[in-house]
Amino acid sequence: MSHHLMNTYARQPLTFTHGEGVWLWDDKGEKYLDALAGVAVNGLGHAHPKLVKAISEQAAKLIHVSNIYGIAEQEALADKLCKISGMDKVFFCNSGCEANEAAIKLARLYGHNKGIENPEIIVMDKSFHGRTLATLSATGNRKVQAGFEPLVSGFVRVPYDDIEAVKQVASRKNNVVAILVEPVQGEGGINIPNRAYLEALRTICDANGWLLMLDEVQTGIGRTGTWFSFQHTDIMPDVMSLAKGLGSGVPIGACLARGMAAEVFTYGKHGSTFGGNPLACAAGLATLNAIEQENLRENAENIGNLIRASFEAEFKNTKGVIAVRNAGMMIGIELDRPCGDLVKMALEAKLLINVTADKVVRLVPPLVMNEAEAKELVSKLSTLIKTFLA
Ligand SMILES: *Cc1c(COP(=O)(O)O)cnc(C)c1O
Repeated sequence: MSHHLMNTYARQPLTFTHGEGVWLWDDKGEKYLDALAGVAVNGLGHAHPKLVKAISEQAAKLIHVSNIYGIAEQEALADKLCKISGMDKVFFCNSGCEANEAAIKLARLYGHNKGIENPEIIVMDKSFHGRTLATLSATGNRKVQAGFEPLVSGFVRVPYDDIEAVKQVASRKNNVVAILVEPVQGEGGINIPNRAYLEALRTICDANGWLLMLDEVQTGIGRTGTWFSFQHTDIMPDVMSLAKGLGSGVPIGACLARGMAAEVFTYGKHGSTFGGNPLACAAGLATLNAIEQENLRENAENIGNLIRASFEAEFKNTKGVIAVRNAGMMIGIELDRPCGDLVKMALEAKLLINVTADKVVRLVPPLVMNEAEAKELVSKLSTLIKTFLA
């Protein structure tokens, strides 16, 4: 490996050369089952023909022109995203942290417009919002923050899935302008809140004039079985951030807003050189169209539930497995001990998984995974986990 890369990643000692669907091949010709999908990015799997065609054709026409000019693909993607989400307006950027940066700036500006000089945003324990200064400050994980102080101020932290804690903040502070929350915590360990959580947050936001801002960077784009995770409820957010699955690996992020929130950014308040360029937006459009045409939301729901139920059956008598949970194709297996070593064991068994929250195995497979592939995943991984726990 090159010595000229900064040491920011603990890389596994292998390099992939190509892929197809849920399969990847390394430079030694070994074949792997991919249950990580580039960390919830490759929803269409690898080398999906419709995506390949769309970005090849777009690259041959126009890759980038800047936001100084009209961009037809960006307009089409904004229209499509608003149609499937019910949101009103979109700002395009290049990643999840940038989408959240946009949301945070929007909330602060919204506060200042209301005469709040020192606006604060409620954020959650165990959350993950990115690695830029503002988003790592919003993130509820000391490991992400340590060494980067002074952190960006203006965040109030409460436990996840705890409505009382939010109500207490509402009763003691008058400068809160928004709540930023993941509908399901991904990096935090596939934490699925109570069914009524988002509805209750919506009610508190309405009562206090706060914006409800959902970080759907990981949960969005079909991952949980609906286009967006909030669509499992009856509520709408005011702001929503997207990235990971949106471009199937071509970098793109988006901050969507609705109603009053959609009017907050005015000329000159935000920008991005690459954001929403023709290539990225062509990838976004091809991704959304393929999800629709191939019923991948339904597949995410069905296969995700099948995987969870199969693991539950496998682990019925296995001491050491605390819980198996899923929201569509976000699947977590919580053990009674740290399980980082499982990643290496899985690699040796030609299976890609990861562990983010110490004791939780996280699976975010491509949305295109079929039943046979899901069964292979469950069979391989449950054997490994049983060996690991024995
Ligand atoms: C991955 C992730 C981010 C950060 O996205 P980047 O593209 O790495 O900046 C933000 N929020 C959530 C919920 C994520 O899962």
